[in-house]
Amino acid sequence: MNQISPWGDPTQTADLVRKGEVGSILNITDPVAINALQQVAMEESRLKIPLLIGRDVIHGFKTIFPIPLGQAASFNPEMIEEGARIAAIEASSQGIRWTFAPMIDIARDPRWGRMAESLGEDTYLTSVLGAAMVRGFQGENLNDPASVAACPKHFVGYGAAEGGRDYNSTFIPERLLRNVYLPPFEAAVKAGAATFMTSFNDNDGVPSTGNKFILKEILRKEWNFDGFVVSDWASVSEMILHGFCKDEKEAAEKAVNAGVDMEMVSYTYVNHMKDLLNEGKVKMETIDHAVRNILRIKYRLGLFENPYIEINKASVLYADEHLRKAREAAIQSAILLKNEDNILPVSNNIKTIAVTGPMADVPHDQLGTWVFDGDKNHTQTPLQALREEYEEKLRILYTPGTTYSREMQTNGIPEAVRIARQADIVFAFVGEESILSGEAHCLADLNLQGAQSQLISELAKTGKPVVTIVMAGRPLTITIGRDVENSKAVLYNFHPGTMGGPAISDLLFGKAVPGGKLPVTIPKVTGQVPIYYAHHNTGRPFVGNETLLADIPREAGQTSLGNTSFYIDAGNEPLYPFGYGLSYTTFKYDNISISSVRPNASDILSVKCDITNTGPYDATEVVQLYVQDCYASVTRPVKELKRFDRIYLKTGETKTVTFTLPVEELAFYTIDMKKTVEPGTFKLWIGPNSREGLTADFEVIN
Ligand code: BGC
Repeated sequence: MNQISPWGDPTQTADLVRKGEVGSILNITDPVAINALQQVAMEESRLKIPLLIGRDVIHGFKTIFPIPLGQAASFNPEMIEEGARIAAIEASSQGIRWTFAPMIDIARDPRWGRMAESLGEDTYLTSVLGAAMVRGFQGENLNDPASVAACPKHFVGYGAAEGGRDYNSTFIPERLLRNVYLPPFEAAVKAGAATFMTSFNDNDGVPSTGNKFILKEILRKEWNFDGFVVSDWASVSEMILHGFCKDEKEAAEKAVNAGVDMEMVSYTYVNHMKDLLNEGKVKMETIDHAVRNILRIKYRLGLFENPYIEINKASVLYADEHLRKAREAAIQSAILLKNEDNILPVSNNIKTIAVTGPMADVPHDQLGTWVFDGDKNHTQTPLQALREEYEEKLRILYTPGTTYSREMQTNGIPEAVRIARQADIVFAFVGEESILSGEAHCLADLNLQGAQSQLISELAKTGKPVVTIVMAGRPLTITIGRDVENSKAVLYNFHPGTMGGPAISDLLFGKAVPGGKLPVTIPKVTGQVPIYYAHHNTGRPFVGNETLLADIPREAGQTSLGNTSFYIDAGNEPLYPFGYGLSYTTFKYDNISISSVRPNASDILSVKCDITNTGPYDATEVVQLYVQDCYASVTRPVKELKRFDRIYLKTGETKTVTFTLPVEELAFYTIDMKKTVEPGTFKLWIGPNSREGLTADFEVIN
């Protein structure tokens, strides 16, 4: 029940294993050292229980895929499953049989640095993609030596940290918890997830690591989870600082009694469990239950039969196939936000390209957060890729403009302007270094850091077309009279990983066509946060005619502007909505039809729509189906994603997309906290994003 992260003298670790004080170790990656410790466990400890070796393999082990937020933009569960499989193959080859992923916290606040690790703001998308990751990590069979146990995290509500500040308290009422935050975790259990991790936050005063309701009532009783639960790093002892426990002993008592089977690093179980048992504060059956949960997973992983790693196998790290898939993943994860005058893909008339910006050639930073094992020497940056592929055909000029994303110095900008003047097109690579997102890296201001906006604006003044390529860990407010307006095109990449460079080069030159869609809303200004498409309506919804600051007459009468729900300085619209993303081609949506306009709750709807590729490129479109439950016993979101499909259309081709939607899936937690479909009027959309689409109405009857 005890997990350690070794430091210092390895013989000390071996001693702890020999004494039976350790059941799992995180953060060792040397297969020889792992085998040696495993041998101590198997041959020298009293009970001869194999160790389980864990690691944060979040978006790749050595071959780094785009950060999860980027992968989510692909809306492609098959690709995401393959990415997780590749991560498992690489990690398990070094002895790691357990990863602390997928992270399936619903993230609606880009100030929160951990949004980078998430699959975005949407419950359905996160459920589908998170389950795909679980399947990918775990493979067909957990006892395949190339499978790693998944650990959906952080259970639960961590993404709702107040103010977007990491580890902060959350206040999620039960209905919201059940409708929005829990479904991805339930989907992960259904996908067979072997373990779960509790979250750091306290929700309404109860830290997750001491929360019986979520761990016992929901996870075990409602969902029949039979794997084991691990705390987050020291989240057992941190319940003292939360003010939930008086000391370590009470922390151990509350955690184990709440249902935390394994403690990560804070050692309170080892130090206090015996006394707690003797004092009757913890029952032997509680310990037995926890131990069974852990042993069950160690058996399923085949660790008892085969605890050791084969050392002299051919390396699978950075295999060509893995790099090829990582490149494809980075392509599918890029989102084209703007493409004025079809400036992209780069036309054949272009002779000289100016490449600039602090993200053009930063092998470490394009990998993104949670890269403990990926080696930046394997990274292919955009500058390298462009040079490698086009240097003989084109003149490529380069200067970084500003040396890193936070750099305030502007003395590199004149050189960037000078090369821009000589070029036919300018590629400005901006964004965030990887250290600006991820755990404990929150921001109160979502604008581009440093002098990057100034760089783009000076480049735009040259009159040369500027293509802005963003690489970041979150949506940034590249907006209002600034970055987007100063760019002819904007290609947004959440940190794209090892193969980001070739992927971006393929996209800029039209060897690949962008098809990614935003898995999160991009706000115009930070103050709009939290901003997400599936909000509720208010009694005075924004109606599209708000008067903004500049148009308000002086001494205007109090009610003269009307009274709707919006910001008078920023309005209500985001910069780009959830699900948004352009292509080099265009798509036309036609002929929506629905199999029944008066279904009952047990019917299965079939909803169809024709999509035609009306532009000049063969391309992929992510077709999205949204539903609104117009009135109910409690208010419901204005729209919720219920289905999506990625379709490939040749130019001129039409396909009919058919979505099968059981009416049952419109169920939600009602005023009585029961999951039911309530009869009434529903609206449905099929479209290219959460703002546009063809509509159809239907009425669910009893
Ligand atoms: C993070 C977890 C992670 C763990 C182990 C914690 O700080 O919150 O997501 O798995 O550390 O590294």
